[in-house]
Amino acid sequence: MINTARLLNTFKNLVTIDSPSFGERQICDYIKSELKELDLTFYEDDCAAKIGGNCGNLYSYIDGDINLPPLLFCSHMDTVEPSRGKTMTVHDNGTITSDGTTVLGADDLAAIASYLEAYRVIKENGLPHRPLELLFAVAEEPYNIGIKAFDLSILKSKEAYVFDLSGPVGVAANQAPTLISFKITFLGRSAHAGFAPENGIHAIKAAAQTISQIKCGRVDDLTVNIGTITGGTANNIVPDKCTFTGEVRSFSDEHATAHADYIAGLAKKTAQIFGAVAEVEITKHITAYCTDTNHSVVKRFKNSCKGLGLAGSLCSTYGGSDNNHLVLHGIDGIVVATAMNDCHTTDEYTTVKELSNAANLALSLMLSKE
Ligand SMILES: [Zn+2]
Repeated sequence: MINTARLLNTFKNLVTIDSPSFGERQICDYIKSELKELDLTFYEDDCAAKIGGNCGNLYSYIDGDINLPPLLFCSHMDTVEPSRGKTMTVHDNGTITSDGTTVLGADDLAAIASYLEAYRVIKENGLPHRPLELLFAVAEEPYNIGIKAFDLSILKSKEAYVFDLSGPVGVAANQAPTLISFKITFLGRSAHAGFAPENGIHAIKAAAQTISQIKCGRVDDLTVNIGTITGGTANNIVPDKCTFTGEVRSFSDEHATAHADYIAGLAKKTAQIFGAVAEVEITKHITAYCTDTNHSVVKRFKNSCKGLGLAGSLCSTYGGSDNNHLVLHGIDGIVVATAMNDCHTTDEYTTVKELSNAANLALSLMLSKE
């Protein structure tokens, strides 16, 4: 029932609008105009000023005619860089790419196009559907900043589908990790490196000694990385400042938290040996979850996939999404593969077939009577 040409047209319209994180104004206005055309009411929250963007989270509640609990369909409006001046080309084999200088933005515009097309089909055919909630979040890419500023208490749904996963449509992730970043600044004392080095406290040495004790890569059930380091001002000055940053991920929230604390302690202890001070900032960006494989949100997904001839299989992802935030606040959800591949690169692509699979899946879930 999906109108593929119309779906492609919507997707193209979305792709050609610039939508950097914190700059989603135009894409939000486009979605609003589409919602208006579908006689839907909507609400944009006031998070723009709070998060330093030009646009709020966009939300729409759609009353249903099937007397079942509502379902939330979540997506994000921002795309990663390079994304200015995106274009899309539909190749003869059905593959859809950018011109290679920007991302395509199927992450997560494919989801938005799918939701809009699915509801359009419902509307034009007068199909009985369940109550629905659509949430188009801003600033998902920089650690879900947008949805964290959204007032979740207005949501009526207890179950969510977050169309925001790469891979073939028909797969969904029911598990995602905790992600904690850390920033550690070593403060020593500067001195002339030639005239009076003994007066200095070497911040870079203190940082280096700490880093040498931190295992990176896969560490038990975690991944650990030191991603950046900066420090020092000149070859003839004992450096008084050095900062390194990194992250820890784990499916165990407890283990990730404990490991970040361990790194903080190590830095403080090592700094002390040098007579330096370590200032530590630890930020938990997302919290791990595992949605039960027997949960109705999963069963419904599997049934819809079955009806569409899709795999209906589950996986875990080591990436975060707005679903981490929803689950943390009592809305059980899964992250659904949505016709996006090689995301966050200029090779990102989708296909006509996969886009229509994603829209059909959204439609089937919206119509589901279970
Ligand atoms: Zn995404």
